[in-house]
Amino acid sequence: KSSVPDVKEQTLIAVKPDGVQRRLVGQIIWRFEQRGFKLVGLKMLQVSEDLLSQHYCELRKKPFYPSLLHYMTSGPVVVMVWEGLNVVQTSRVMVGNTNPAEAQAGTVRGDFSFHVSRNVVHASDSLEGAQREIQLWFQGKELLNWDCCDQSITC
Ligand code: ADP
Ligand code: MG
Repeated sequence: KSSVPDVKEQTLIAVKPDGVQRRLVGQIIWRFEQRGFKLVGLKMLQVSEDLLSQHYCELRKKPFYPSLLHYMTSGPVVVMVWEGLNVVQTSRVMVGNTNPAEAQAGTVRGDFSFHVSRNVVHASDSLEGAQREIQLWFQGKELLNWDCCDQSITC
């Protein structure tokens, strides 16, 4: 019997248009794979303003909101669902502070960005937020509950 707990916590990670444009998709996926999290959903899309307004509904009164919508619709995004123990909190640490000037080196934002309006990546900020965002961006059938099919490979 495995001693690894069967954890289904999930979070939504998105490579924003600047990250796609700068060819950072692979490096960002690699970080989550390297950490050991499990990829259960992945797609590339041009986001609609309707989806974004729901995604960022808490920010709609902020002065930067119009430019945020413009930024997020300026090109395709790659959106993913990652699964694992404490994945929501751990992803926030891996992504780094919202403001890249305060993001630690070694985090995605701390390594790849210098301005809050071009901060490369999105990560859900709470369990409830993650569940809400995953339902917003993905249909249930797009999330795959896969297991190791080859027992000779450790995972
Ligand atoms: P996070 O993405 O770290 O969860 P928020 O939810 O507070 O941060 O903000 C969502 C996104 O809005 C940020 O990632 C960033 O792209 C943008 N944003 C936040 N604050 C500002 C700001 N002061 N000026 C411009 N854009 C901002
Ligand atoms: Mg947020």
